[in-house]
Amino acid sequence: MALLSNWGWKKLKKTAVVLKSGREKAVLQRHHWIFSGAIASLPSFEDGDILPVYSHSEKLLGFGYFNRKSQIIGRMISFGEEDPFLALQRNIDEAIALRQSLFNEEITNAYRLINGEGDGIPGLIVDKYADVLVMQISALGMDCLREKVIEMLVKTLKPRALYEKSRLPSRKEEGLKEVEGLVWGEDLSEITIKENGHSFLVSVLEGQKTGFFLDHRNMRKQVQEMAHGKKVLNCFSYTGGFSIYAAKGGAKSVTNVDSSEQALEIARKNTELNHIDKQKFVCQDAFRFLEEDSLEYDLVILDPPAFAKKKKHINQAAKGYHQLNRIAMQKMPRRSLLLTCSCSYFVDTKLFQQIVFQAALEAKREVVIIGRHQLAQDHPINLFHPEGDYLKSLLLYVK
Ligand code: SAH
Repeated sequence: MALLSNWGWKKLKKTAVVLKSGREKAVLQRHHWIFSGAIASLPSFEDGDILPVYSHSEKLLGFGYFNRKSQIIGRMISFGEEDPFLALQRNIDEAIALRQSLFNEEITNAYRLINGEGDGIPGLIVDKYADVLVMQISALGMDCLREKVIEMLVKTLKPRALYEKSRLPSRKEEGLKEVEGLVWGEDLSEITIKENGHSFLVSVLEGQKTGFFLDHRNMRKQVQEMAHGKKVLNCFSYTGGFSIYAAKGGAKSVTNVDSSEQALEIARKNTELNHIDKQKFVCQDAFRFLEEDSLEYDLVILDPPAFAKKKKHINQAAKGYHQLNRIAMQKMPRRSLLLTCSCSYFVDTKLFQQIVFQAALEAKREVVIIGRHQLAQDHPINLFHPEGDYLKSLLLYVK
């Protein structure tokens, strides 16, 4: 690209973000985030505005939305010379096309339709539950595009309802309040979805996250495949996702443990919905349950909530994962299986394995890894932006 005349560049700098020399590499490689340390100059702008981003050598790198309040000051929504609004529409279309190619709606009609940076759309999550969409906005810049996004989603997908559930602690750092409510269409309470042929009730209004933990779909399928004849314990069961699959796979018994009575109530309804009768429901703190129960199970599932929501919580989180896994491994019978998971982004795969290793050592058990996490394909990880990879699982055989 030809360099601008000195006069032209000076004028442009008044309306554009310019990165420091040598700090443009990440954006050139299509990484979406810009940290304040990479910025040479900012124009005058209002937080949330979309601005062009230039390298120090006067090359247009793309467009991003900016917010001085956020640690991540800029998030790119288009790269190179592509118009940011066209990029947004194109990325939404791409995201929908991928899901349409992945799922047969007769078998699975609930999935993550838009996975933030994973689909090139920072700050936006959209989950589809049958013909209802639930969206979650995590950044101010995306919030400024809210009306446009709603219009695009409604026009393209014609849902029965579009509900916003933007209840993320990170919104505070963006200067946003938590928001929840119906945006478009019919009022709704509970929705019945299909996942791999099983039925689940999803309470968008009262449920956690957007209503269902879609990200474990493939791990649930694995549980179904190995549950035959086994006594299964599902700790942190939520609405019984793993449990329904285990029962359908021929488990001898299934015990659900969760501290939320509301989640267990839906789990109960889910067993009825799938014509399953043999399940136990225990409303208790899972740590306490593990301490008090004899753990005579052939398969134990530990899928706790994120213990480290921030980087500074890593040590505390590590203690939590260690404790859970140690107690389980100490008591589980010989030749049993443990599926242990972590959805803490800050506890990476390597650290998680180290924690589990330490737990096995202290439990004095011989343990081998026989499986690892299998991504749900509707949660794509952008190769150029690997930070989207937060969920890990280890399938262990306790000898
Ligand atoms: N495995 C589930 C998702 C688990 S989400 C699925 O596939 O659908 C985490 C669950 O842990 C939530 O239901 C939450 O209510 C529960 N929870 C959080 N802290 C807990 C604790 N200390 N003891 C038991 N359950 C807990």
